[in-house]
Order: sequence, then C-alpha cells, then structure tokens
Amino acid sequence: MQPSLLKPSSADLESKSFSQKIVVWYRNHGRKDLPWQRSSGEDKPYHVWLSEIMLQQTQVIKVKDYFNRFISELPTLKQLAAADEQKVLSLWSGLGYYNRARNLRKAAQICVKEHQGQLPEDLNTLMALPGIGRSTAAAIMSLAFDQPEPIMDGNVKRVFARHFLVAGEPNKSSTLKQFWQLAEQHREQVRPAFYTQGLMDLGAMVCTKHQPQCEKCPINETCQAKAQDVIADFPEKKRRVVQQEINLYCLLHVVQGQIAVELRTDKGIWPQLWFIPSFDNKQDLFKVASDAKHHFSLTHKLTHRILQLHVYFSEEIDSKKRHNWIKPAELKHKPHPKALEHIITQYQNQHSI
Ligand code: SF4
Repeated sequence: MQPSLLKPSSADLESKSFSQKIVVWYRNHGRKDLPWQRSSGEDKPYHVWLSEIMLQQTQVIKVKDYFNRFISELPTLKQLAAADEQKVLSLWSGLGYYNRARNLRKAAQICVKEHQGQLPEDLNTLMALPGIGRSTAAAIMSLAFDQPEPIMDGNVKRVFARHFLVAGEPNKSSTLKQFWQLAEQHREQVRPAFYTQGLMDLGAMVCTKHQPQCEKCPINETCQAKAQDVIADFPEKKRRVVQQEINLYCLLHVVQGQIAVELRTDKGIWPQLWFIPSFDNKQDLFKVASDAKHHFSLTHKLTHRILQLHVYFSEEIDSKKRHNWIKPAELKHKPHPKALEHIITQYQNQHSI
C-alpha cells in the first residue's frame, strides 16, 4: 500500500463520503509500515489474522515484537498447524489470553484439513473457525483479500460513537447493533483495505481516547460530538467491574541457579503453562513444604482479577510431582505467565542467579 503523492484540496474533501474521506486520509497519514502490512502472497491472510488476534489484547507497539518473533519461528499457516502446542504457547508467553493461541493452532489445523492449507476467502467460513469472530473475519476479508467487509474494534467504536453520536456502553448488545448498522451503511467498495486500516488508524492516532486532535480529523465537519461539544461524553464509559482478589501461595525452590517449575493442569488460571508450585491456601503449601518461609509478596493484575502472590522459599520438594529445573534465561522456551517473570525478577533483585 503506497501513499498517494497528491494532497486533496479541502473542497475535494467536503464533497467526499465518510468512507472516501477516510481513504484519502489513510493514503496521506495512515500507518503503512506495520510488520504484517509488509506480507504479500499466500501468507498475507495468515499474517493479518495473527496480528488481529494479538491486537485484541494489546497495543501495536507491543504486538510488533511478538508478531515478528512468532512469524520468524512459524512463518506459514501450515507450520503453525504442524507446531507443537507448547511451542505456540511459548511464542505467546506474556500476551495473556492463552486460549487465543490454542485456537489459532486449532483453526490452522482445520484450514490444512479442509481449506487446502489457506484461510478461506469467505466471511461465514472464516467465522466458523475457532477464535475468529465477526470483526476478525471482516479484518481478514478487507485487509488481506480487499473485500468490503466492515470491522468493529475499540478504535472504530470510538470514532463511530463520537461522529454519529451513538449512546450506550460500547459493548452492550443494543449499542453494538447500532455500530454494526452504521458500519454496514458506510461500507467502502473501492478501497476496502485502505478504509479498514484508515478507520483503525484514525481511532489510534487522531480520535484518541483522551485529547483527540479534531483539527487533523478528515471527518471533523460532520462529527456530531464535535458540533455539540460533547466529545468527552462519547463513547459512554464502561461501568467499573469490581475485580476479584485471589491469593496464591507459591513455592520457590532454587538450586544452583535453577528454579523448579511445573506444568499447570488444564483447569483454573494459566492452564497448561509452566509456573512454580502454587496453592490456594497456606495449609496446602505447608503440607508439601513444612520448612517454607515467606520471602515476599507481590500483586499481579489480570483483566478481571487481582492476584496476590505470596512467595515462600523451601528446600523440601514434593517428590510425587515431576518438576522441571530451569535457569531464568531458559524461561523463553517454556510457555509461562508474565507473573513468573515478575517473581523471578523480584528474586533476582535480592539474590544473584
Ligand atoms: S472530529 Fe474529533 S471527535 Fe469527531 S471523529 Fe474526528 S477526532 Fe473524533
């Protein structure tokens, strides 16, 4: 996607439709150097899909590194399908929402089995794959296949809520319905990929959550929130969810610079990830390590929960369990939650391993 060298005059912009204005703005100001935009050929849909799933949980700046690392190890959809689950999870380590990584692999396997190793070029068939919702399917359709399918991510919702004055919490079903209706009404037929990327970029770069730069916005003349001076009221703020606090009692065994980790079960938090032995209560911890001494506690936030991690030292080790002993530098080879890195860092600040 190359930007046009021709700058539109303001008279040109006034006569253009909502979608055309965004396409013109994208050509001149949008992002064109994101790693997944450099892909071409048959791997492009896979790269777009991977980036969309990663972007569901974090910012572009952080996704770039994860994306590059993932693609350098698993550059094609077929390689993802053939990869071991632990390998996929280790490439995902630190991003959270590990089921998304599992679903990526499952969907890739279905594509190999049923779609000749490619992502299908059809919205409904894409939506039938594990982990692909309507907006992700539409992003693949528009960004990879240049089809006029509208998307609906957080940035787009913010632009729509302000420009069209859509009331209601953005994720409420009645509000979502309005967003999708507007998205359908404002499809872009000529340059769908530019429009999709342009809408996302406009939300990320101009119509930002705080202090939007309306003077730089290509749709400022028709923006209803701006006209009525109510930008700060749109989109409606989400009601605060009371976060559940969970205590976890963790055992840190360190022998000759190596730490004992175990694979968690497929239930509870962090299923099938590597972590130090942990327990829901102190009594259970002392049952396996009567010599345990509390060393430090730290707080780790998940989306809807706050974990209080209480770390104990012990020399006793539960012989019934199969532990792996790893050096901190080897952690990257084992899928693990970010909390493990925090614990190890805290420990390293006090000791040298
Ligand atoms: S004019 Fe301002 S509030 Fe309206 S869409 Fe543009 S940046 Fe957002």
